[in-house]
Amino acid sequence: MANKIPRVPVREQDPKVRAANFEEVCYGYDEKEALLETTRCLDCKNPRCVAACPVSIRIPDFIRELKNGRVAAAAAVIARDSSLPSVCGRVCPQETQCEGACILGIKGEPVAIGKLERYVGDWALEHEPEVTAAPRNGRRVAVVGSGPAGLACASDLAKAGYEVHIFEALHKVGGVLVYGIPEFRLPKERIVAREIEAVKALGVEIETDVIVGRTMTVDDLLDREGYDAVFIGSGAGLPRFMGIPGENLNGVVSANEFLTRANLMRAFDADYDTPIQAGRKVVVVGGGNVAMDAARCAKRLGADVHIGYRRSEAEMPARVEEVRHAKEEGVTFLTLHNPVEYLADEKGRVRAMRLQRMELGEPDESGRRSPQPVEGAISEVEVAEVIVSVGVSPNPLIPDSIEGLEVTRRGTLVTDPETLETTIPMLFAGGDIVRGGATVILAMGDGRKAAAAMDEKIRKS
Ligand code: FAD
Ligand code: SF4
Repeated sequence: MANKIPRVPVREQDPKVRAANFEEVCYGYDEKEALLETTRCLDCKNPRCVAACPVSIRIPDFIRELKNGRVAAAAAVIARDSSLPSVCGRVCPQETQCEGACILGIKGEPVAIGKLERYVGDWALEHEPEVTAAPRNGRRVAVVGSGPAGLACASDLAKAGYEVHIFEALHKVGGVLVYGIPEFRLPKERIVAREIEAVKALGVEIETDVIVGRTMTVDDLLDREGYDAVFIGSGAGLPRFMGIPGENLNGVVSANEFLTRANLMRAFDADYDTPIQAGRKVVVVGGGNVAMDAARCAKRLGADVHIGYRRSEAEMPARVEEVRHAKEEGVTFLTLHNPVEYLADEKGRVRAMRLQRMELGEPDESGRRSPQPVEGAISEVEVAEVIVSVGVSPNPLIPDSIEGLEVTRRGTLVTDPETLETTIPMLFAGGDIVRGGATVILAMGDGRKAAAAMDEKIRKS
């Protein structure tokens, strides 16, 4: 199915300028551009885009409302299924979800659903009257973690009349949205904080600096504090390392630590004195979105940045757009290379790394061709800082503090696929603590699914 109108391009900051600042890269659509893009949608009877959206946003309905100039109605359609449209319009991997399934994509370019969602979400932040809390039903739920899973679960339960308390370990609310994804992809004050305010306006109370498993336990919440149910959305914030010699040297850091310093502790901001090393040559190890974020942050902090990845670019798990943005900003790609050792200077700081050249063999269980070392092909490169981004696991603190809770070998929680209830009655979980590192929208989908199951079970109890 072709469409005569080409997809409306989105304006972006000039790569040369943006490589030295933390302002948002993508400007999004203005009204004229958004309205033109809506005219491309065929308003399909059986919309493939909706089936491919993890929270089933009624995409053709909101696009139709927007096309007819009813932006508030478009926002209301999205709000039924998503409490964070401005966030999701910016960070969702639409190319593998709604836009990947859009019928127009078969012979041409799909509708820019993400950019339209962002337009509507931003409009709502500017124009919508404040939401009022729903009348209370006398039942209480505790939510652990204020990332997308926890926020989505809390919103739905608050809308259903529950008294909801979120307990967050950090001093800031939002999970990866505030400590991981950089400002230049997702502005914190202008977007994240305001969408969180909208969740609070529903009556959700959020307590920060509370580490569940230390400050209080899940048993305390269920037994002593009298919550009817608990949802765990504590994410997967524990970085993995490769276990190679020299990985504990000064100057070898995880992407999580680097990004937390850069984003949450605002190392890029002259008004903050957060120490961060990114002055000279930086190698980021890994090929996922987190690696791209770390590389692009290091670039903005003045470093000469290289991505070291053991497979070829075709196998990179990062979004195509992220790889393109990184390249445009001057990050260089050292594919088919894998670190095998880090070498120290006389002060115990990393000064160089030994890199093994790789070649691609047969596909492995992930379906991607597996990297094999090329015999004898090891080189040494000088480096001032290494940022390791080879995956994350859930922090074991909560699972270890709950007797009888079933956990997989990867440290993720075992849940009933229909209800997301764990092996402990009235204890539910979703997002990265269950999936082990996924996406914002999947975490939100879990939060909503668990909220519906909790509501049903509490009503019956
Ligand atoms: P999180 O967002 O991790 O939130 C968990 C929260 O729980 C945190 O605030 C944490 O402090 C809190 N917590 C943890 N332990 C405790 C405790 N014991 N007590 C109380 N609170 C606790 N996804 C996308 O869709 N698009 C992207 O572009 C994208 N980019 C990413 C970039 C980076 C750098 C990273 C790290 C991830 C990215 N992701 C992206 C993945 C996405 O952010 C996650 O899948 C999503 O945030 C998971 O949501 P969550 O609510 O399960 O967990
Ligand atoms: Fe519109 Fe594409 Fe969805 Fe069809 S599949 S309703 S064209 S966005």
